[in-house]
Amino acid sequence: MNKVLEDRIVELLSAEVSVKNRIEIEAQYPNRKLDTGAEVTRFCPSPTGFVHIGGIFTAMICQYVARQSGGVYILRIEDTDKKREVEGAKELIVQQLEKFDLSPNEGLQLDGSEAGDYGPYLQSERREIYLAYAIDLLRKGRAYPCFATPEELQNAVKDQQSKKMRPGYYGQWALWRDRSDDDIKSALDAGKPFVLRFRSEGDHEKRLSIDDVLKGHLELPENDLDVPLIKSDEWRLPTYHLAHVVDDYLMKATIIMRGEEWLPSTPLHFELADALNIPRHRYAHTPVISIIDKSGGGKRKLSKRKDPEADVAYWLKAAYPLKAVKAYLLGLANSNFEDWYRDNPNADLAEFKFSMQKLASSRSPLLDMKKVDDYARDEIARMPQEHFNKEILAWCELHDRKLFDAMMNDPEYTKSVLAIERDGDKPRKDVAKWSDAPEQFGYFYDEIFATQEHEKSPLDQKVVKESLSVYMSTYSHRLDKDAWFENMKQAAEKSGFCLDRNDLKANPEKYHGGIADFASLVRIALTGKSRTPDLWTIMQIMGEDRVKNRLET
Ligand code: GLU
Repeated sequence: MNKVLEDRIVELLSAEVSVKNRIEIEAQYPNRKLDTGAEVTRFCPSPTGFVHIGGIFTAMICQYVARQSGGVYILRIEDTDKKREVEGAKELIVQQLEKFDLSPNEGLQLDGSEAGDYGPYLQSERREIYLAYAIDLLRKGRAYPCFATPEELQNAVKDQQSKKMRPGYYGQWALWRDRSDDDIKSALDAGKPFVLRFRSEGDHEKRLSIDDVLKGHLELPENDLDVPLIKSDEWRLPTYHLAHVVDDYLMKATIIMRGEEWLPSTPLHFELADALNIPRHRYAHTPVISIIDKSGGGKRKLSKRKDPEADVAYWLKAAYPLKAVKAYLLGLANSNFEDWYRDNPNADLAEFKFSMQKLASSRSPLLDMKKVDDYARDEIARMPQEHFNKEILAWCELHDRKLFDAMMNDPEYTKSVLAIERDGDKPRKDVAKWSDAPEQFGYFYDEIFATQEHEKSPLDQKVVKESLSVYMSTYSHRLDKDAWFENMKQAAEKSGFCLDRNDLKANPEKYHGGIADFASLVRIALTGKSRTPDLWTIMQIMGEDRVKNRLET
């Protein structure tokens, strides 16, 4: 392409920004003064919707690898797709990372400021940087304008499909790759929109060696696609490909931790780096998190559409103790984590020695919500009482004002309620997340109990009523646990329940059930629930009046 045309294209691309050259830009990004072996990692979400739990997984790995090696963990917001950008999404990313204790060393902070000397960390603010590199490629003959319309591109793909050829903009299908200057001039004169495309010199038949930190040695086909580098819309922002290669070069990233869906693009990123005369990046393609499909039973990728747990907001809303969630994710990444955690349950998770080798040898991570719950129940069961109380109250204050008020009305009572079965060798494990509070503690408060949905005893309601009446006629609140149980057994027998298992087994038609069934009907009448901590303890804490009010019919 002649110089006059090139200049016209440069002018059109760089409207409204001052064009700098690479040397000026690179002078602002000196080498980092870090010790040998220090890793500079980067987490680079796009603000196009919610934060995916897989993003937390990747960010966590980025943080560990940087922290453990004395390096830097960067957050870069990849907002080059202005059409898909969701308002407030980048702020949400920063807030949610902070909740998981994953705030970056460099990049956007909670207060909206940016930390670090290698910014800006928002790609939309780096336009003049990308242009410098795009123009460099244009001047070297490694980029050219393409005026193909969306229809023309679609038709090419259809043509390729019908001929059973690989789809894409390459070889004979690269419509504007070898156009004459006259064609380019007339398109420019006509004011046609254009993208700037890379001129690939790769050969799809040839293989490229890639040593991925996680995937190991790979041989992938060379890139031969002339991909767009700068988009045609009014923002004139780069595509991911150019932005990634340039930014990670300038920000001095030492390891590119990114989802494995980017693996096939790696040959392109190598070729781009070569064309720009910058070192090729070192990649670690992280596995995607899968789930067992609830209907089909098969293993599949966690889907934004089908799985609410894909969205980080789901975890925050349920109010899982986030240390447990992180611990669970660490267990997915490093198989030795579980043993370490068992031995060091109270240690700061930052003390765990994260291993990339272990991550490399782990199978693709499978999200198992039951296991998450187990981690969370254990974490909560271990919590000191005061911490537990604080978390429960904090959740109620924000999300269940009525329960909070009821709890605060009688702080001593609440203290006893929250302490039930939390000490001893086998602490209760029925709280997995703070949003379990209404279900696990609401029934202790009359005003809440009155509004809750109650389970129903499977027994006939007449039997329930009569049994409760028998029970209450001999009930004494001051009995110790053994005497209380004796008393309950007598009431059960009187009400037509059987105390002898063998007899019950032999003659089930003679009885309403066994002692467990009797206790269960009392439990349900008292709490609205069939599963609770120890009934005698509950009654003692509730107090005589409350017990009588609920059980006397
Ligand atoms: N913005 C890209 C994404 O969300 C980031 C990939 C990368 O980390 O380079 O997939």
